[in-house]
Amino acid sequence: MRQKYTSYQYSFPKIRKTSVRGFTLIELLVVVVTNQRGIAKGIITEEKLKQIHKSMLDKIRKYGGNIDAIYFCPHDVSSGCECRKPKSGMILRAIEDFKNHDIEIDLERSYVIGDCEKDIIAGKPLEIKTIKIGGYSPLANLTKKSLLEAVGFILKRD
Ligand SMILES: [Zn+2]
Repeated sequence: MRQKYTSYQYSFPKIRKTSVRGFTLIELLVVVVTNQRGIAKGIITEEKLKQIHKSMLDKIRKYGGNIDAIYFCPHDVSSGCECRKPKSGMILRAIEDFKNHDIEIDLERSYVIGDCEKDIIAGKPLEIKTIKIGGYSPLANLTKKSLLEAVGFILKRD
């Protein structure tokens, strides 16, 4: 069966911008990868999800930040797709897509930040450093209380 792999949207224009304002200032890419099995289950439509993402992006941009790309997996657990976290499909897809736009993502300087163990596991095969927020994870490289705290850490790292 041919399966739609990953749906995504991105804004490659001025790559040097990102999610939280601090990130923008130090020129990091921000990529969101999100499981959205509600689409497969008929709880939410892809269109509605895109609206939610757009309003999220509008708010972030209003404060001077950006998200460079959003990937979502619309499949259910049982689909066995390669994109649903804890698999790394969406991250791999992002790396490939940016590469096709002549942007090499430096994995050694990248972080996977997530509030769910699945997020942390998704970063592991690629050896990307992981930050678990909102609770301890034995698998993560670091644990931070919040996204804000994780961002603060990354901004100070070098
Ligand atoms: Zn999927």
